Amino acid sequence: MNDLNRLKNEYFFMPDATRGAVRYLTTKQLKETGTEAIVTNTLHLLIHPGPDIIQKLGGIKKMMGWDGIVLTDSGGFQVFSLIHSKKWQGSIDEDGAKFKSPREGNTYELTPESSIDIQMKIGSDVLVTLDDCRKSDLEKEEAQESVERTIKWAKRCKDHFEKEYGGTKKTGKLLTCVVQGANYPDLRARCAKELVSIGFDGYNFGGFVVDNDQKLVIDEMSAVIGNIPKDTIRYAMGVGKPEDILEAARIGYNLFDTVLVTRNARHGTLYTSQGIVKINNSSMALDEKPVDQNCDCECCSNYSRAYLHHMMKNGEAVAQTLATIHNLTYYQKLIKGLTPVCP
Ligand SMILES: [Zn+2]
Repeated sequence: MNDLNRLKNEYFFMPDATRGAVRYLTTKQLKETGTEAIVTNTLHLLIHPGPDIIQKLGGIKKMMGWDGIVLTDSGGFQVFSLIHSKKWQGSIDEDGAKFKSPREGNTYELTPESSIDIQMKIGSDVLVTLDDCRKSDLEKEEAQESVERTIKWAKRCKDHFEKEYGGTKKTGKLLTCVVQGANYPDLRARCAKELVSIGFDGYNFGGFVVDNDQKLVIDEMSAVIGNIPKDTIRYAMGVGKPEDILEAARIGYNLFDTVLVTRNARHGTLYTSQGIVKINNSSMALDEKPVDQNCDCECCSNYSRAYLHHMMKNGEAVAQTLATIHNLTYYQKLIKGLTPVCP
């Protein structure tokens, strides 16, 4: 419990362990990067291996051999974006979403209540309420509808969490909600206020965090921060690039995740104290320096840029491992280097 409450008062960066693994890393390697919390994807785990199997195996933490913190998303963001973009067949109404997985053709239902049940079976420490996430660039009327539904669903999630499981008090788990309102700071503020009146352990900035020019939506993010209590989780979902994390932290957010860190590592884009290093560039072929001279990760302590370049070019899996270890170590140092006490 004490550990989880650190999420309200310190900065954390969570890599994405989408299906219960951070790609190319063992759990031991993951820990050695300084990672203390991970985020897993409820939708992927719902489809495979399924929440009942995970529960029978003792939960995702036992399966992974992970004693750190696990946050699950609600599954809504992926389902709704797949349905909205017509990549998956499905429908959305007042009760949630029904959809068909193209992987094995099964039909699933995601409601506020079932989303909580699935996250409980996965064995998450920090749960997220189902929210009505839509496309970017919404007309105000549609953004308003999304806010109304998000608030209703958040209330249903909390009621179900308390009635079925005894809430935070009995489970020791935290329940966070998602603030919607698209690009309208007034709607963001209203959504935040109403969610605060229901009461959650954390408030996550949902929807799109960058605009069409890839700039952080600072006005909207500030409108949310200005209306939520300080002693809560303030999660900027999907943020982001190192400079965006610093900016979001400056205005009051303390929890972050992005797929960029691990995905970029796999594509040879490495973050360093001297800026970005593209390890696949031919200029790296004879570079005997480590990826980052100021980094003591397994990659930088033992290998040169030239060796990593050679292994990447030859598709060696260990190159992906070393690049991921480096990028995650860099991010964890960045996050812990922020002032120890949150604003
Ligand atoms: Zn390194």
